[in-house]
Amino acid sequence: MDARLREIYVKCGIEPEVYDFGEKILGDLTGRFSEYDRIAEYNQLKVIGAMRKCGVSEACFMPSSGYGYNDLGRDTLEKVYAEIFGTEDALVRPQIACGTHALSIALSGNLRPGDELLSVSGKPYDTLEEVIGIRPATGSLAEYGITYSQVDLLPDGSFDLEGIKNAIKPSTKMCAIQRSKGYQTRPSLSVSAIGAAIECIKSVRPDIIVMVDNCYGEFVESTEPGDVGADMVVGSLIKNPGGGLAPLGGYIAGRHDLIEKTAYRLTCPGLGKEVGATLDVNRSFFQGLFLAPTVAVSALKGAVFAASIYEKLGFDVCPGADEERHDIIQAVTLGSPEAIKAFCQGIQSAAPVDSHLSVEPWDMPGYDSDVIMAAGAFISGSSIELSADAPMKEPYAVYFQGGLTWPHAKFGILSSLSELVRGKIVDIYI
Ligand SMILES: *Cc1c(COP(=O)(O)O)cnc(C)c1O
Repeated sequence: MDARLREIYVKCGIEPEVYDFGEKILGDLTGRFSEYDRIAEYNQLKVIGAMRKCGVSEACFMPSSGYGYNDLGRDTLEKVYAEIFGTEDALVRPQIACGTHALSIALSGNLRPGDELLSVSGKPYDTLEEVIGIRPATGSLAEYGITYSQVDLLPDGSFDLEGIKNAIKPSTKMCAIQRSKGYQTRPSLSVSAIGAAIECIKSVRPDIIVMVDNCYGEFVESTEPGDVGADMVVGSLIKNPGGGLAPLGGYIAGRHDLIEKTAYRLTCPGLGKEVGATLDVNRSFFQGLFLAPTVAVSALKGAVFAASIYEKLGFDVCPGADEERHDIIQAVTLGSPEAIKAFCQGIQSAAPVDSHLSVEPWDMPGYDSDVIMAAGAFISGSSIELSADAPMKEPYAVYFQGGLTWPHAKFGILSSLSELVRGKIVDIYI
């Protein structure tokens, strides 16, 4: 089989020496990978256990239309999410357009004029700057008289617990924590570190609402932020928990009263969770969630494989090959525009969809430099599928994530390296 495997990789455009180099790297990763497989196994049982407990049945897959009253699938799915994320209740809806929207309604549903939002993990994700009003925007929380302040992480990437205690004031209503680094160069936060920060916040004022942006973190560990005291846990269904099958959507899992207020913002006061048809998406939400633990771990393996390969070749990688993982994002600093382009082209060429396209940098709205993106996804913009993007500016770092299956992640990474080798940007000596 080994020879046939090598043969098909070469036939699919992988340089023979790249394949051999990859196999050598993989030899050292078997211990890591079997640890990840145990996490997937644990989370698979967690998901099935929740589905059994909540009585998921074939009737849950029936489409609903119109107002969507008594949508059994939707209501059952929300119970399943609450169970998995360690919370009392959840809101899981196709009407939530993306992760930013989910975060936005969790914030605006629970903050009132005069309240303060405190971010305790430094600068929040880019798109939240306009939601909060850090960058002035129409309709932002700032326009409604909700103030914002932030405590940065310490230089080593840990929570500044003293700083957090000092920053809490009488108007502090909610604290926000972002689990994944997103597109910053800081370590992602472990669930146990998040738990310690929550304990610190609650020791000052137990009534402060703690919201965790859980994007890209779901099923990477065997616990979730709800298990360590988060009041709301928020994410996107076209990332980890949708398992690649959810065609859209977002979720908020949390305390019952907070979910109710969030639902009043998503739909309207009085109606809340009672309305919202799901058309025909329930089956894909359930089935995607069922697959999510193994999908997240496939992506995790891809991230570690990429880190190991590029670190070995002398590039800066974040996180490092041997570092613990708390999300599925891998950054590789390639150092030049040509290298970025070759890397992204390799990812694109390895995709099941749009593999024939050539990637080009473009002036994407909201960014201060051109951005290059590689994605050949079944679901538009899905970043649990294998994808890579990079701003075309110093230090020329590419962010790489996803992979619905480990073999696809592996192929994509070997394909990126083959492009770099063919472009004479990287030399492999083994
Ligand atoms: C993806 C992501 C979001 C939300 O982004 P959308 O593109 O709106 O889904 C928020 N926070 C983090 C850390 C993310 O990775």
